[in-house]
Amino acid sequence: MKAVTVLFALFLLSACGRTQRPGGPREAVRPPARETAQCLADLRRDGVDFRVLPDKDYGEGCGVFGAVQLTDIGVPVTGITAMRCGTARAFAGWIRNAVAPGAYQMLGSELARVEGMGTYACRNVVGSTRGGDRRSGHAIANAVDVGGFVLKDGRRISVLRDWNSADEVTRTYLRQMRASACRRFGTVLSPDYNAAHANHLHLEDDGARFCR
Ligand SMILES: [Zn+2]
Repeated sequence: MKAVTVLFALFLLSACGRTQRPGGPREAVRPPARETAQCLADLRRDGVDFRVLPDKDYGEGCGVFGAVQLTDIGVPVTGITAMRCGTARAFAGWIRNAVAPGAYQMLGSELARVEGMGTYACRNVVGSTRGGDRRSGHAIANAVDVGGFVLKDGRRISVLRDWNSADEVTRTYLRQMRASACRRFGTVLSPDYNAAHANHLHLEDDGARFCR
C-alpha cells in the first residue's frame, strides 16, 4: 500500500514537471490591477488618446491584459494594435519627447509618421539563443516593433536601410533614438543585437535593462 502511494506521488511529481516544462502549457503573466490603473491615469494626464481594451486570455501563455489601443499620441503611428499600458506609456513618451523633437533637431524636418511593425502576436522569441523557447513579450502585448520614421519633407528613415547609412547624421539619429528607448523600456533590441532585428527596433516594458 505504501509503495503504491509513493509511486502515485512520484507520478504526480513527474506530471507536474511536464506541465511546467518551457514550451508546454503556461499562463500569461498579468500586470497587477493597481499598476494598470496608475498607468491609465498617467496616459490621461499626458493627454494621450486611447481606448482601454478588454482583457483576453488566448491560452498557451498568450493574452492581452491591462492593454490599450493608442488612438492619438500627437504623431500618426501605423501598425500598432493592443499594447499593455506600461509599454504604451513608454512608447508615447519616447515618440513625443525623443523621436519627434530629435527628428526636427537632428534631421531638420518634423516627424510625419511612425511605422510600427506590430504589437500583439502569440509567438515565442525568435532568432535568439537568449530566448530559447520562451514566449515573446509580443505574446502578452508587452512589446512594440518599430521599422522606421517618415519626415514631413518626405524622407523615410528605415531601420533596415539606414541603420548603417552613409549619412552620419541619420546613423546617429537612429542610435540616439535607441539610447533614449533604453532609458524608457526594459528591453530594446536593434540591428546590433541579431539578424532577426535587422529591420526594426523591439521595445518592451519588462524591466530587464537589456539594451542592444
Ligand atoms: Zn519585437
